[in-house]
Amino acid sequence: MTMALIACSECGRAVSDKAAVCIGCGAPITTSSPIDLDAKRSDAPPPTREQIRRRALLSLSMLALGVIWANILDGRPGSRFASFMAALLIIGGLCWLIVSLVHAVSSRR
Ligand SMILES: [Zn+2]
Repeated sequence: MTMALIACSECGRAVSDKAAVCIGCGAPITTSSPIDLDAKRSDAPPPTREQIRRRALLSLSMLALGVIWANILDGRPGSRFASFMAALLIIGGLCWLIVSLVHAVSSRR
């Protein structure tokens, strides 16, 4: 493991890239290290609010479709494939909805 010295972006002082804050001025140290999650996250442009809303709506309709389908199938012998598809829609819609919600929350920061 190597410990490199980098220049603080605030005061220019040489500080360890493993340090969380600058020892000189206390400014947070930003590194381009691959372990840095914040740097990784900023690589991809965050989805816009409109995109998040559209995804949430799509996942919700997918979830609703699965629930409706399951209700239609309920009380009927129904084929295994149809029940499987209904379950898949519900699970897929739920997962997608959670992902959209996570994006919505993280984009608000
Ligand atoms: Zn500094």
